[in-house]
Amino acid sequence: MESNKSGTTRRYVKELGAALGAVREAAVLCQAVQAGISPETLEKNDRSPVTIADFGSQALICRALSRSFPTDPVIAEESADALRQDDNAHVLERLMTHIKRIRPASQTEAILSFIDHGGASEYSKRFWTLDPIDGTKGFLRGDQYAISLALVIEGELTVAVLGCPNLPWNSTATGGTVFTAVKGLGAFQFPLDGEGEPRRIQVSPQTDPTRLRFCESVEAAHSAHEDHAQLAMKIGIEADPVRIDSQAKYAVVARGQAEAYLRLPKDNVYREKIWDHAGGALVVTEAGGKVTDILGRPLEFDHGRTLERNRGVIVSNGPLHDHILDAIRDLEIAKNKGISL
Ligand code: AMP
Ligand code: MG
Repeated sequence: MESNKSGTTRRYVKELGAALGAVREAAVLCQAVQAGISPETLEKNDRSPVTIADFGSQALICRALSRSFPTDPVIAEESADALRQDDNAHVLERLMTHIKRIRPASQTEAILSFIDHGGASEYSKRFWTLDPIDGTKGFLRGDQYAISLALVIEGELTVAVLGCPNLPWNSTATGGTVFTAVKGLGAFQFPLDGEGEPRRIQVSPQTDPTRLRFCESVEAAHSAHEDHAQLAMKIGIEADPVRIDSQAKYAVVARGQAEAYLRLPKDNVYREKIWDHAGGALVVTEAGGKVTDILGRPLEFDHGRTLERNRGVIVSNGPLHDHILDAIRDLEIAKNKGISL
């Protein structure tokens, strides 16, 4: 623990600093790769840009974490196995070109082992979880994506850094935004490029359910849009849903631009991945909001790579949370999918 000049206690200063630096560095690489996506890439359905950015982001972030906290496991989305195969040599070469623009002395073997540093899968008392590029489809389309990093201690979300390179910091800014949160100390946003003071963020104070604005995934395969529409009708929500890729949805709720993010499950089979929620969930709760699954259970980050005991995710500003959960129950949405407590 550290105290600053005003005497307030600051916790996890080193963790937050390292995580923020790492996410910013990864964002530089992701932005360079996204800027190079051509219409032909999209036409050919070529996913190599997102592959390169995914591995590059994970390598840079795991490099930073392994230097600052060598004994902390990292549960990250990617593994370097595919990159080690001969038929991916050209992908590895392009990856190294991008990494060397940021870290010129990087060696290929070291980069592969940094990626593998994110290969933990079991729960431990202190670990990081990382989605190097959340919202890969959005990344390819040139839309929203996020770099999400969180530290979990004793199963509790403790530190979060959520980089959103395409989410403007304010209505006149062109650069992206980075969101940070430390458990018990609030949530903040500031420009991703480093120029500008952090500002504390708060969820919307809205209590009228008919005025609820909600966001959902762009990809219909990732959540049940039809159930969201039914819910909206039941609650009397007037505004249309806003579709956004990635954990940028959490950011939008955290800074009060929407009252909810709905992620109703398509079935009772899929298990949400911890890295798709850890960073965003802490930012929202520290901004005063609430995050549960569709049955109202808190998200449990102590079962390895997935939210094994949860189904779907409901994110809200707080006052409107029970309206959403009540409507889910009244419409028997969970029951109809075979989901019960
Ligand atoms: P979003 O951008 O909010 O649509 O979420 C992107 C994330 O959805 C990816 O990182 C995947 O891990 C996750 N995902 C993939 N398939 C599913 C699914 N069937 N249900 C929920 N999430 C999924
Ligand atoms: Mg993801």
